[in-house]
Amino acid sequence: MFSFLTADNYSDVARNSSNVLDVLETAGINATWIENNSGCKDVCNRIKTVKMSESRCGELECYDVDMLEQLKSWLSNLHQDSIIVLHQMGSHGPAYYERSPNEMKRFLPECKSQELSNCSVDEITNAYDNSLLVTDQLVSQVIKLLKSHTELDSSMMYVSDHGESLGDNGIYLHGLPNWIAPEEQRHIPWIVWPSDEFNVSKHETGATISHDNFSHTILGYFNVEASVYNEHLDLTKPDGRYAHAFATPRR
Ligand SMILES: [Zn+2]
Repeated sequence: MFSFLTADNYSDVARNSSNVLDVLETAGINATWIENNSGCKDVCNRIKTVKMSESRCGELECYDVDMLEQLKSWLSNLHQDSIIVLHQMGSHGPAYYERSPNEMKRFLPECKSQELSNCSVDEITNAYDNSLLVTDQLVSQVIKLLKSHTELDSSMMYVSDHGESLGDNGIYLHGLPNWIAPEEQRHIPWIVWPSDEFNVSKHETGATISHDNFSHTILGYFNVEASVYNEHLDLTKPDGRYAHAFATPRR
């Protein structure tokens, strides 16, 4: 997602190349990564990183909403153009039930097993839906916080890295190769709460976009020029967008 390579030309070269956060930092934009998943897969190696697992939530794993405290203090200490990434646990399986605190659960009964084939599709879906409530809460609280900082020109972007199969056609979790993965794993939400400067919502709706657009759109938003930047993949640009973007791989 943070690479400038597209799905068509992606390779391991990405691991040894500057990603969008590196390019932003080089351009003088401060980048911070808050980690509440199992790691940043080398994306955050060269930027400031805070690991939620390092005794921030006592004995327990942190829920994604616990990252709001990090965002609060970050927002109160800004001195330059900045980006913060909140890397959620989100709805990663198989332990969907562990993603939501008891007081937030609304869909019951839940699947309480890591062995999903022991549960009914309804129980798995309930646990999954409860995890979505946490993401829902996180996104709405982030927007609320940003709104409260009227001195800042800010935007929020929520993008999933992939979807999950919940037992449809006997398929669970995620991670099948792109060419064989079902729609549930490939079709992801991308939500933008834009500042006045970043009016994606004014543009064409129903357009086909993909992770190919992600890094270029971030550079476009910050107005950063770089040799790796491709204007055609930048969703903040009114024309020529989507020209090379595909939501699903061509077969
Ligand atoms: Zn993931």
